[in-house]
Amino acid sequence: MSSGKINVSVENIFPLIKKFLYSDHEIFLRELISNATDATLKLKHLTSIGEANVAYGDPKIEVKIDKENKKIHIIDQGLGMTSEEVEKYINQIAFSGAEEFLEKYKDSAKDSGVIGHFGLGFYSAFMVASKVELITKSFKDEPAAHWTCDGSPEFTLVPHDKTDRGTEIILHIAEDSLDFLEESKINGLLSKYNKFMPIPIKFGTRKEKIEQKKGEFVESENKDDVFTEVEVDNIINNPNPAWTKQPSELKDEDYKSFYRELYPMQFEEPLFNIHLNVDYPFNLTGILYFPKLGADLQIQKDKIQLYQNQVYVTDNVEGIVPEFLTMLKGVIDSPDIPLNVSRSYLQADGNVKKIANYITRKVSDKLKSLFNESREEFEKKWNDIKIVLEYGMLSEDKFYEKAGDFMLYPTTDGKFFTLAELKETLAANQTDKDGKLVILYASNKDAQHSYIDIAKERGYEVLLLDSPIVSHLIQKLEADNENVTFARVDADHLDKLITKEETQISKLSDEEKEKLKVVLETIVPKETYTVQLEAMDSKLTPFMITQPEFMRRMKEMSQSGGGGMFGMGNMPEM
Ligand code: ADP
Ligand code: MG
Repeated sequence: MSSGKINVSVENIFPLIKKFLYSDHEIFLRELISNATDATLKLKHLTSIGEANVAYGDPKIEVKIDKENKKIHIIDQGLGMTSEEVEKYINQIAFSGAEEFLEKYKDSAKDSGVIGHFGLGFYSAFMVASKVELITKSFKDEPAAHWTCDGSPEFTLVPHDKTDRGTEIILHIAEDSLDFLEESKINGLLSKYNKFMPIPIKFGTRKEKIEQKKGEFVESENKDDVFTEVEVDNIINNPNPAWTKQPSELKDEDYKSFYRELYPMQFEEPLFNIHLNVDYPFNLTGILYFPKLGADLQIQKDKIQLYQNQVYVTDNVEGIVPEFLTMLKGVIDSPDIPLNVSRSYLQADGNVKKIANYITRKVSDKLKSLFNESREEFEKKWNDIKIVLEYGMLSEDKFYEKAGDFMLYPTTDGKFFTLAELKETLAANQTDKDGKLVILYASNKDAQHSYIDIAKERGYEVLLLDSPIVSHLIQKLEADNENVTFARVDADHLDKLITKEETQISKLSDEEKEKLKVVLETIVPKETYTVQLEAMDSKLTPFMITQPEFMRRMKEMSQSGGGGMFGMGNMPEM
């Protein structure tokens, strides 16, 4: 028997831990299950390299609630600890056995998936427990140990008669944390934090119907199947989620079913996925999905989830995933993202920047390959992805550079052009007197239909650019393509275009036109609009009222400049 003082410099660390270490009390369960997972993975590793001469078997982790006695048990079949190891690993706060393990087995264990590294996780138990017991039996041939601590720096450590290998943690739940004794509460936490952890986690049992075929071997007259109900372990996690596999092992259907696993309440299928898989210069795996965005862009409940070694960390990926891709869904798993630091530090971290660039590159590569593989399919998805692409072109230069390969510009009648194709197509017919290419576009097919009709009648292509941020994109495209200018169909450009046949016939005499113009100008404000009669030869429209392109744009940009739909505070200056 031994007793003593926990080895820390601060006398009363527990109140501190309870208050400040983690803002979220609920993560105690994640930490203890992470430790149980580590203990199991360490044993797996030691058996595989012949350092532990025991059968690894088929270990699982069990979480049990004992509501009556106000206790939660977390039981594993991992490597356990000798009492010496308890002294070393548990009594020394902020000494990480996980880190030590990785250091010791540096070369062989780097892919073992061991989670811990701060040596503080265990003490998060005191956020919800007034007393913690740890009963542990090492895989080594030594008696089990029983450690007890009531939240003061005093502890006791005595032998125990436990014979099966592994560790059991018993939390005596504190009066202010009794809600953690509710099954539904623990269930919720398990499915939030532990859904994809690598060792099976049992939480209670459930009934399962199994099919027993009668007369399987005999030609029987009674061919009815019989169902029997059996009680099976309720395993709450999938230890081998799709992102931990190689892309070559997965079919399209596997990606889709993982999406459903990730977002059980999401019924819309994703458009396509991007499998992330890199181990140098940083380690990152994951699967991103382009969701069907539909009309309501604001709904963003199902976010990208960030994991570290299959442990859920957060769904706040700000600073890690480029902002324009935060609309995507899926999973990112990386042990290389420093998470204990503020978000602003994160943005300055070199590794994190590299990660963001890598993700951007993978997304643009995927878009390019989809475009090249089947342009038709790509065009069909256009309406659902365009907003992400437009925003990406505006906010990420690296993406902008690549987007030329797959960025499309649809016309009002459903054709799609790349910018290069547009330049080629329009060169023959759509230039102004300075030889600049004039790209006509409509922002609203219904409201501008008569202008669209006129332009089409004259043989012009009219794009349909109806996104809320399109005026910013146009500005950028014009700045980068000297010879190109965009003009909305109802702008004053239409008549500045050089047409092949200059056949303007009007039924009105010049005198009549002048009279009509005077009448019209009394209705529309002269300062902002221009009435045009002289150039009209259309049977559809007797005259046109236009507004200079630059005036409309100024107004539009001042309206959409602040806030924007994604809270783009700093859009390119005008
Ligand atoms: P970390 O996991 O960051 O190393 P913790 O405070 O979570 O730090 O745990 C401290 C150490 O205690 C672990 O590294 C491990 O050596 C030991 N430990 C904790 N829980 C268990 C367990 N269930 N089985 C075996 N060892 C454990
Ligand atoms: Mg830990």
